Formats: sequence, C-alpha cells, structure tokens
Amino acid sequence: MVNQEKIKEAVKLLLEGIGEDLNREGLVETPDRIARMYEEICGGMEESAKEHLSKTFTVDNDEMVLEKDIVFYSMCEHHLMPFYGKAHIAYIPDGKVVGLSKLARTVEVFAKRLQIQEQMTGQIADAMMEHLAPRGVMVVVEAEHLCMTMRGIKKPGSKTVSIATRGMFEGNDELQNRFFQMLNM
Ligand code: ZN
Repeated sequence: MVNQEKIKEAVKLLLEGIGEDLNREGLVETPDRIARMYEEICGGMEESAKEHLSKTFTVDNDEMVLEKDIVFYSMCEHHLMPFYGKAHIAYIPDGKVVGLSKLARTVEVFAKRLQIQEQMTGQIADAMMEHLAPRGVMVVVEAEHLCMTMRGIKKPGSKTVSIATRGMFEGNDELQNRFFQMLNM
C-alpha cells in the first residue's frame, strides 16, 4: 500500500530542497495532491495480471491475434518521470483466447508502477505465457521518455522501442515479420 504520509513529507522536503516556499498559495495543497496521485500512478503494484488473463473463451481458430496501439503511461524508475506510448501484443492461442480489453488491463498492471521499459515489455509477455498459456507471445512497446526528451540529451519525439518474444515467436523470423506486417496494416 502507498503510504501517503511519507509521500507528503518527501514532497515537502523536495520543495524545500529546490528552494521553494512551502506556504506559497499554489504549493499548500501540493504534497497532498501528489500523495493521492501516486496512489493511482503506482496502483498496478496492488493488482495481478492473473485476474484479467484468467477469464478466457474457447476457440477453434489458433491464428495469431494482435491487439495494437494500447496506450499506456508509466514512470521511469531512474528519474521518477513519465514515459508513455503504445504497447502491441500478439499471441497464438492454444485453444483459448482472452477478452481484448483484458490485454489493455494487463498492460496497466505493469505500467502503473515504477518501471524500466524493457522490463515492462518482458513482464507483459511472461504474464501472458503464465496465465493464458498460448503457443507464443510477442510484445512490442514504443515510448517517449520525458527523462530523455525534457532534460539531458533533449531529443523531443524520439522513441525507445523494446520487444519481447516467448514460445513460438522466439527466434522465428517469419512469425515476427508477420507481427510487423499486421502492425502496419
Ligand atoms: Zn529515466
């Protein structure tokens, strides 16, 4: 559980640290607002992908399913700054599929916490393999990191792309190419 009192204290210290006046009108409510905001931003820590991925439907069709352009917002754990973009998830069912909204929910579980993009990409793929047990999964995440574009090397609009493959997708160029073809349709 998020400890709101600790966050409030930390934000006060941060504001003092940058030389701000805690009693300035615009800042009086800020520690409280940020504490409540973190409850939501880090809400994924309280959730499990299992509850979303275990509601499945039986199908005969074992062709690739691609859910693309799943918009997400997360927080870089190195700078506590947002990174955001789109996740694309493909899987090859093994007799069962999951409701499409559940894939978006799964992305949220892992996005709503302090993250590293590459790690999040792998966690989504692993959760799919563990709870849905398809024949293969491929996850591609493209995101802009504010810690890169707002500060440091400042390359606005530059994106980081990460990829994770599991099961049949691993080392299978043909399937991976099909993923990208479907992505660009
Ligand atoms: Zn960062």
